[in-house]
Amino acid sequence: MNETILVVEDELKIARFLELELKYEGYEVTAVHDGRSGLEAIINGSPDLVILDLMLPGMNGMEVCRRVRQTSQVPIIMLTAKDETMDKVMGLDVGANDYMTKPFAIEELLARIRRIFRFKEQAPVPTSSKKICRGDLCLDQDRHEIHFQEELITLTKKEFELCQLLMENIDHVLTREQIIEQIWGYDYYGDVKIVDVYIRTLRTKIDETFNRKFFHTVRGVGYIFKVE
Ligand code: CA
Repeated sequence: MNETILVVEDELKIARFLELELKYEGYEVTAVHDGRSGLEAIINGSPDLVILDLMLPGMNGMEVCRRVRQTSQVPIIMLTAKDETMDKVMGLDVGANDYMTKPFAIEELLARIRRIFRFKEQAPVPTSSKKICRGDLCLDQDRHEIHFQEELITLTKKEFELCQLLMENIDHVLTREQIIEQIWGYDYYGDVKIVDVYIRTLRTKIDETFNRKFFHTVRGVGYIFKVE
């Protein structure tokens, strides 16, 4: 079955354009043109992903997002106009998974959609044995061990999972919400700032201990793992 995407966009030209492009890519697409219809379509239609414009008549995208998140973890990509930088951050705060600034290249949007769908498929813990090495850092999933060169690093279960998630997504920024979803699960309703706390611990145990910088902050967005 094809993945379904809901487009919530009041600019009809953009909505139509997205509809055509996404259909061409093989997705099932529905488009609605105001916030309230968007909210209804998300709740009743259960799409696999939502592209949600920020400035909408009736109810703005931020509010739609906030209400959707009370009951659903459907991935949401928010569309914002160029001068709405602050709103982007707020969009992520109310639970959007990603955002695009208009005007955007369709290829970039398609890449992000594919990434989100890939991410969803990865969500169950893989059963195959797995070893991930990034630079001098090696993670062994079976043995639940991380080594820097020859030295064993002691991490708690959650620290280990977070470290693994970031290493797997090397050079890809993850939002706090994405991290929460993957590590703490859909039903986590606590503060997303817990991610910051865990990142600090990883920095102390890994970056500072071995005088490297693996865990980077992307301000207003989230975190990225890099080998320099
Ligand atoms: Ca708009």
